[in-house]
Amino acid sequence: MVLNQPLHFRALNLEELKRYLKSLDVPAYRASQILHWLHKQHAAELSEMKNLPPSLRDRLAREGKASVLQLVEVPKSGDQGSLKYLMKTEDGHLLETVLIVQSGRRTVCVSTQLGCRIRCSFCASGKGQFVRHLTAGEIVEQVSVICRHQKDSVTNVVFMGIGEPLDNYEATMKALEILMAEWGFGLGGRRITVSTSGVTPKIEEFVHDSRGRVRLSVSLHSSDQELRSRLVPIGKKYRLDELMRSLEHLKKTLKREITFEYTLIKGVNDSEKEARGVAKLAARLNAKVNLIPYNPIREMNFERPNSDELDRFRKLLEAKHIRVTVRQTAGRDIDAACGQLRLDRM
Ligand code: SAH
Repeated sequence: MVLNQPLHFRALNLEELKRYLKSLDVPAYRASQILHWLHKQHAAELSEMKNLPPSLRDRLAREGKASVLQLVEVPKSGDQGSLKYLMKTEDGHLLETVLIVQSGRRTVCVSTQLGCRIRCSFCASGKGQFVRHLTAGEIVEQVSVICRHQKDSVTNVVFMGIGEPLDNYEATMKALEILMAEWGFGLGGRRITVSTSGVTPKIEEFVHDSRGRVRLSVSLHSSDQELRSRLVPIGKKYRLDELMRSLEHLKKTLKREITFEYTLIKGVNDSEKEARGVAKLAARLNAKVNLIPYNPIREMNFERPNSDELDRFRKLLEAKHIRVTVRQTAGRDIDAACGQLRLDRM
């Protein structure tokens, strides 16, 4: 439990909630009922929990909260079936969460921080001020806000919104516990992806702590040490060769294939030489490559490759037998580049 923060029931695991209820002399089975309302029914208020005695609901409402996020903007629909939700924290900060509906899957893309300290040169998330980490409760509540609004469950969760999940390690791991637990969202590890800019020691901890069950996505963006660290500054500290060695080692523990995220920027990292380099790295790990055509942000004058250029790069990888997917940038028309909507509204 995070000290100095009002009690947020969504941030507790089963054990913690039981212990808390015990301190109030409330029987343990109430914990399962409460968690059911929170993570299966996505109740926003304690008053909705109809099978709890009113006296208990009142007591809990005096001591803590079921919700700490407020939906502030009716989601705009974008292309490719994506919806962007803008939410507000209790301390008045904005965060964004995206729902992507595609080929039978409903995927929520959650944010893990208010701002980002990694500051990749092409990403809007790192352009504003870094405010703070999100709590585990705030991370999982993003999923519930969307379920409630959609009146539907979700099938997948990806940690690919604003922030570097492994820079907010504890909250990310706690959120994963809640998402995967039977008493929580009950999502299998294969339905959850954590994406990282490449914080090597934390990747090792993450794979170990999640026992290789959660999907790992690594933002590569270049196969060249020098260029990569210009695009992803943390690459200076955690060098590509080290990162690769570590991933090769982790492959034994990982139950799922690794994915490389690759934001394709015209004239920057879309050369044939790069394609060969990326193919080599991917082959070493038997990794899949997810190409993301650069989504222009106002702060940078990088350019997005056109569809022929994108195709060319994809085919170069495929010629080397690399599995490639292309992320049709979710909702260019709704400022879906990470952090852009938030940045605009601030
Ligand atoms: N911090 C994590 C989570 C972000 S995931 C990470 O770096 O992996 C979002 C993915 O989109 C990352 O690969 C990120 O580098 C990429 N991205 C960020 N801004 C982008 C933009 N303007 N256009 C295309 N891809 C972008």
